Amino acid sequence: MPGGAQKVEGLEFLGALSDHEAAFRQELLDWLDEHLVGRFAELLGVGGPADDAQWEARVLWEKELATGGWRGISWPTELGGRGESMRCHLIFEYEYVRSRAPYRPSLQGESLFGPAMLRFGTDEQKQRFLSRILSADEYWCQGFSEPDAGSDLASLRTAARRDGDEWVINGQKVWTTFGHYSDWIYVLCRTDHDAPPHKGITCLLVKLDQPGVEMRPIRTLAGNADFNEVFFSDARTTADMVLGEVNGGWAVAMSMLGVERGTAMLTHQLAFEQEVTDLFATARQNGRAADPLVRQRLADAWIGMRLRRFATMQVVAKVVAGEPLGPEVSLSKLGAAVWHQDLTELHLDILGPAGAISGPGPEPTGPQRSFLLSRAETIYGGANEIQRNIIGERLLGLPR
Ligand SMILES: Cc1cc2nc3c(=O)[nH]c(=O)nc-3n(C[C@H](O)[C@H](O)[C@H](O)COP(=O)(O)OP(=O)(O)OC[C@H]3O[C@@H](n4cnc5c(N)ncnc54)[C@H](O)[C@@H]3O)c2cc1C
Repeated sequence: MPGGAQKVEGLEFLGALSDHEAAFRQELLDWLDEHLVGRFAELLGVGGPADDAQWEARVLWEKELATGGWRGISWPTELGGRGESMRCHLIFEYEYVRSRAPYRPSLQGESLFGPAMLRFGTDEQKQRFLSRILSADEYWCQGFSEPDAGSDLASLRTAARRDGDEWVINGQKVWTTFGHYSDWIYVLCRTDHDAPPHKGITCLLVKLDQPGVEMRPIRTLAGNADFNEVFFSDARTTADMVLGEVNGGWAVAMSMLGVERGTAMLTHQLAFEQEVTDLFATARQNGRAADPLVRQRLADAWIGMRLRRFATMQVVAKVVAGEPLGPEVSLSKLGAAVWHQDLTELHLDILGPAGAISGPGPEPTGPQRSFLLSRAETIYGGANEIQRNIIGERLLGLPR
């Protein structure tokens, strides 16, 4: 172990940090201290995986991060990344969340699409797209779900056919998070109607700003419009805009969903820990911590958080070892979603009548917003029942 190796509170799951890792962490902390000020300090704790609050301001913050070189931490340097290890990547995620820096609008591009592009993309595609993601100049959204194809994704009907050097796309997607803020969409399309459902799907990269694409935002009960319906009517993309193999889109989609349920969830889970700290502070402040029933629920919330951490560590261990994520991510995704919904309910209960009062604007804020937005967590990235099916079939070997 190097001389300066140290364990850091909160980062115990990584064991002792090497000198390099400790220096990386310190550089990050200093940078955040220096830059998370002024107009950016107003963004502390703002945004979430399905929350577009203060989007434009957060995009400016994203640019600030890009200028500081704090994007693509573990991506290769020749593609514009920082070339650090996965461990440094995790240190970044943890300290970023702990600093309460705004939730990053780049999730779809950098955290979901990027890893798939690194794995399945051609050299030309990587050169074309990855640097624009890292410079915060292009945003991406995910075109998987359709009105009749969510859990049963393989039944999707949006179709693409070749026309000379182009693909022509027709169909509809739905629940496209942050689509109205995006420049590009990765779309699962049926390209072979005779093959078994999951073998006739191709992942196409499609520019959104074109006459054949119509994006319609959907307003949610939290007051925001973070997702959309997308209509493709003879939309076009060039023949080389295929991610992975033609008719090999299922492998790309499964890899992305693995990341969404696994590595990308880590950030949310770390943010949830911050909410527990806030909740305990509120309960102490308003005296509810003295109520024996509230204390029980607070203790349960804390225990749940510790258990989430163990599940997270299992995922972290695989990521650090460079092993592909498997069905175990369903355990962590399912557990975190259920636990977090309970936590947000507890927060409102502890606030009592004050929990019914939100900020001055038309949209709910604080714990109320968190409560409303958390309702989606047991659906996106695969609903609870689907995670239970995966656990039953693939971890327990139960019949389909
Ligand atoms: C906030 C949010 C953001 C999202 N963002 C995106 C995005 O950016 N891009 C995208 O493509 N999609 C996105 N989605 C869609 C998401 O992936 C789907 O909602 C999810 O896969 C469920 O599909 P569905 O809504 O069609 O429900 P359905 O598949 O119709 O399911 C309805 C209910 O039936 C249950 N069910 C279905 N099949 C089974 C089964 N075999 N066994 C047991 N129970 C079953 C489900 O668990 C669910 O409770 C998002 C969803 C949300 C809520």
